[in-house]
Amino acid sequence: MSTAEFDLIDRIRARVRQRDDVVLGIGDDAALLQAPPGMQLVVTADTLNAGVHFPESTAPADIGWKALAVNLSDLAAMSATPAWCTLSLSLPEAGESWIEAFLDGFTQLANQHEVALVGGDTTRGPLSISVTAMGLIETGCALRRDRARAGDDVWVTGTLGDAAAALEAVLASREVAAALRQRLDRPAPRIAAGRRLAGIAHGCIDLSDGLLADLGHVCARSGVGAEIDLPSLPVSIALAALDPAQRWHWQASGGDDYELCFTASPRNRELVMQALDFAEIATTRIGRIVAGQGVKAFDAEGREWQSIRSGYEHFPSPKGTSFGA
Ligand code: ADP
Ligand code: MG
Repeated sequence: MSTAEFDLIDRIRARVRQRDDVVLGIGDDAALLQAPPGMQLVVTADTLNAGVHFPESTAPADIGWKALAVNLSDLAAMSATPAWCTLSLSLPEAGESWIEAFLDGFTQLANQHEVALVGGDTTRGPLSISVTAMGLIETGCALRRDRARAGDDVWVTGTLGDAAAALEAVLASREVAAALRQRLDRPAPRIAAGRRLAGIAHGCIDLSDGLLADLGHVCARSGVGAEIDLPSLPVSIALAALDPAQRWHWQASGGDDYELCFTASPRNRELVMQALDFAEIATTRIGRIVAGQGVKAFDAEGREWQSIRSGYEHFPSPKGTSFGA
């Protein structure tokens, strides 16, 4: 291990807040964590590569925030409470100011959710950030993709399409409204909403690749189909003025929303709205789960609608099958 690498790890360790259940954190060969009795450990990992998962121009503090946010979003979709994380960094150079700015964003979100950074790895290479997040859930209470049932309502939290609209503008070097750029760079993981939905929602997923693609994963895992009413998709003030046909592509097929999409029995509509009111997050009913397979979207006249884009695929194949999304 070089001195530069040691300095970096020291810098990281100096910025970390600990928790009582971290028996041993950064500095040993591995961390020792104490899970409480009656709780299951929920584990997820996601990597951000420069130029693939964020534009090269993204500020280091925003990269730090987003690297953790996308992982906490996965925990939210399982209804877990975040507890710990690890951070594996591949950096082109051991830049002091870069790492401090990165940690500003990373620790801001970690502190908000009382997540302790307990270890990781630091190597030289193309800019890539890999986070593993661990959370806790009462045994047997996790929300899952394979629990949607025909007849369920389909719901989403927040608004859709803002991040995709921002990304398109950034890539075209067009000016982006601050509110839209914020949705791309600083997604807010819906932890409180996920917690409140335990025992109420059936199927659940967080939206990273686009509504239709991600709801498709829920349908495939649950052995059902879904119908989405495009005019009902929740829209931000920033996008509301646009022609629906233009924004639907961002809202239905754009990535990076990090909202929750979940299904629940129509009998529980009041319960769903109360639960998310309590979590102070807007929620909108956007369609229904049906027998069969696949996700269909309909316009205001009830005509089936085809997106010009499908969800993001890292390894698209001509046959339309993919892995590693
Ligand atoms: P090892 O050779 O045993 O893998 P390292 O030199 O990679 O040890 O790391 C030393 C300690 O610093 C370990 O406890 C490791 O978890 C921690 N660590 C290394 N890189 C990071 C990082 N980017 N973030 C948090 N902890 C880190
Ligand atoms: Mg190591």
